[in-house]
Amino acid sequence: MLTLETPVQFVKGIGPTIAKMLAEKGVATVEDLLLHLPFRYEDRLNPRALNELKPGEMASVIAEVRGAVLLRTKRMPIFEMTVGQGLSSMKCMWFHGTYLEGKFRPGQMVALFGKVEASKSGRGFKMIQPQFEVLPDGHDDALDRILEVGRITPVYESLSGSKLASRWIRRTVWNVLEELKGIPETLPREMPESVLTRLDLLSREQALREVHFPPAGTAMAQLQAAATPAHRRLIFEELFYLELGLEVKRRRFQEKTGIAFETSEKVRAALREILPFHPTTAQKRALGEIAADMRRGAPMRRLLQGDVGSGKTIVALQAMLIAIENGHQAALMAPTEILATQHYLSAKRVLEKAQHKYRITLLTGSLDEDRKRAARRRIHQGETDLIIGTHALIEEKVEFAKLGLVVVDEQHRFGVLQRFRLMKKDGAEPDVLVMTATPIPRTLALSLYGDLDLSVLDELPPGRTPIVTRLVTDERADEVWEFVRKQVAKKHQVYVVYPVIEGPKDDQPELDFALPDEVPEPAKKKSAKKGQSEALFPKLPLKSATDMYERLRTQELADLRVGLLHGRLDADEKEVVMRRFQRGEIDVLIATTVIEVGVDVPNATVMVIEHAERFGLAQLHQLRGRVGRGGAKSYCILMTGGKISPHAEERLAAMVRTQDGFELAELDLELRGPGEFFGTRQAGLPDFRVANLLRDRKLLELAKVESARFVQKASEEATAEERARVAARLKDTWQRRYGLAEAG
Ligand code: ADP
Ligand code: MG
Repeated sequence: MLTLETPVQFVKGIGPTIAKMLAEKGVATVEDLLLHLPFRYEDRLNPRALNELKPGEMASVIAEVRGAVLLRTKRMPIFEMTVGQGLSSMKCMWFHGTYLEGKFRPGQMVALFGKVEASKSGRGFKMIQPQFEVLPDGHDDALDRILEVGRITPVYESLSGSKLASRWIRRTVWNVLEELKGIPETLPREMPESVLTRLDLLSREQALREVHFPPAGTAMAQLQAAATPAHRRLIFEELFYLELGLEVKRRRFQEKTGIAFETSEKVRAALREILPFHPTTAQKRALGEIAADMRRGAPMRRLLQGDVGSGKTIVALQAMLIAIENGHQAALMAPTEILATQHYLSAKRVLEKAQHKYRITLLTGSLDEDRKRAARRRIHQGETDLIIGTHALIEEKVEFAKLGLVVVDEQHRFGVLQRFRLMKKDGAEPDVLVMTATPIPRTLALSLYGDLDLSVLDELPPGRTPIVTRLVTDERADEVWEFVRKQVAKKHQVYVVYPVIEGPKDDQPELDFALPDEVPEPAKKKSAKKGQSEALFPKLPLKSATDMYERLRTQELADLRVGLLHGRLDADEKEVVMRRFQRGEIDVLIATTVIEVGVDVPNATVMVIEHAERFGLAQLHQLRGRVGRGGAKSYCILMTGGKISPHAEERLAAMVRTQDGFELAELDLELRGPGEFFGTRQAGLPDFRVANLLRDRKLLELAKVESARFVQKASEEATAEERARVAARLKDTWQRRYGLAEAG
């Protein structure tokens, strides 16, 4: 008997071989298979007639193959096919279409989906690279005919090449749903009854059936937008369990014993003493919120969000002083050595002014073993107050004498659903403050970081002027270097950023970050359209930081003091270069994305980014945020070489158009999808199966509200048996999907 938990291997038509292929796509159980939802639907009940198409629209067409030919043009082979309906006909073209040779026979019926374009002759239409499916005819199986024509047909992303493509998935899903039909108890209600009723949600079984095989009359627009009641039911369930887990975690956490710090007049005087400037209203407010948390007995878990340059560091430093003045240690964790080093240098500078001398320790991976050991000993013995270092190092290897507060800078590089495994001698939970410049839309942040409280710096320090952003091609490089020299003559400093450290064999992006490659790979999810267009823009050899450093310092910028900074330098070298740049002893810093986050040298006024088309929007925004930090007018010059893809063009145009982090974040979400925006893997964000955080933001909020309510009212609204089921499901979901051993 089939249940949702049955391994796919035992589904009719799936043996060990196919099960193995499916496993590679993360499809292990019947449920996994059923949650592999169609990525679009075709209306093959009322397909469009060829003579009523309009140029520019996306359309589904069913037509007969009239003829097909592979044209070997000078640039590439093009597969051309003519399809017809009665007297009307249409041309379809596939670039590099050799693989299509022999695939079609005249007289066959095909379903095509693509963008309608006017043909060159002006009469009739064509489709470039449409998606297609050869439809079953009288010789084919009756079930195929039922599932593929005369209905709203689901179209799936293949689960393994052409073998496990749409047709196979349709049949298999259909068979599974049929088999499950007779045995209702195999689909237990996965949602609390009270929630289902209140929100008027479909049953799980009905939702699964309709999401794959929508009843005739379902609005196509709703289907394509994943907004049918069936979609909403499944999406809501996924988000509900995410939010429920976060809610439970937060509550558990609130019950733990933390440290109740005091903010006496003496402490406040210490905070005031180190302030190098008047804090902005937003900074004061954020510090107030943090201090209030720190005074409470429950441990703090707070997210401080503020766009690049909004001044998060000083707020963190003040929070750390509260802990230190109360006799505890504070730790600041940064995602890169360079940033840790910079924090160390600037903390030293700021704290030097204080009467009471604070003891600061830097701890990064590339310190030599002796120094690391000595640092760890000081921390362990309580001989240091403020520990600054890279994240992994502090979290994994250090035992603290009396840790009171942990600050995590640039959280978007770390896990969202992160556990802190800090070793400490005494029992109390340290407070945690997490900082991010990722301009996550507020509602999204609240729901996502469901186990954190949120403070926002929504104001920049005074005196900032907008950064002038220009887009230029490589051909104008001479003018760019000329401009750089002029700025240096005015005593300003310049960054020049490259996507790789060494070239040309070394196509590795900067290692400190291991960023997901922004340039979409053709085979990637959901990128059928994108992939094809990107394939027309082959990658050019990349200029690298090391090569260009050699070149610029001997040629174009020979008269200037040029420095080089990237992730493969060892810690001492990095520190020396950073320090010299900060002191103004280097005019032009050639770098990789190691400087992307956090680096703060207010005298730098120009950010030149070569191969700007290779960077993602969030990255470009961060990089640009390295300038415009002082009073002087600042510039960001985005250089591109050769042809760039439409998506890259859109990104660069957006950079020129706006400096608003939130606007850029929204656009980035649209272009890349939330998973990639947050860098799903490194961010520790779950890979959603049916939900999409951008599209389903409203449902996410609803899920947050409902899950909080359920936790609060479970004893009134749910039976003990139901509560146990929900708890079991929660545990299972968090373990399986989010890889957390202790759910909550
Ligand atoms: P981010 O939020 O990106 O980490 P930083 O904390 O590095 O920003 O601050 C950016 C720059 O602005 C630093 O040079 C910092 O000294 C300066 N700064 C921060 N707050 C203020 C303020 N209230 N007035 C003037 N300058 C400030
Ligand atoms: Mg910062």
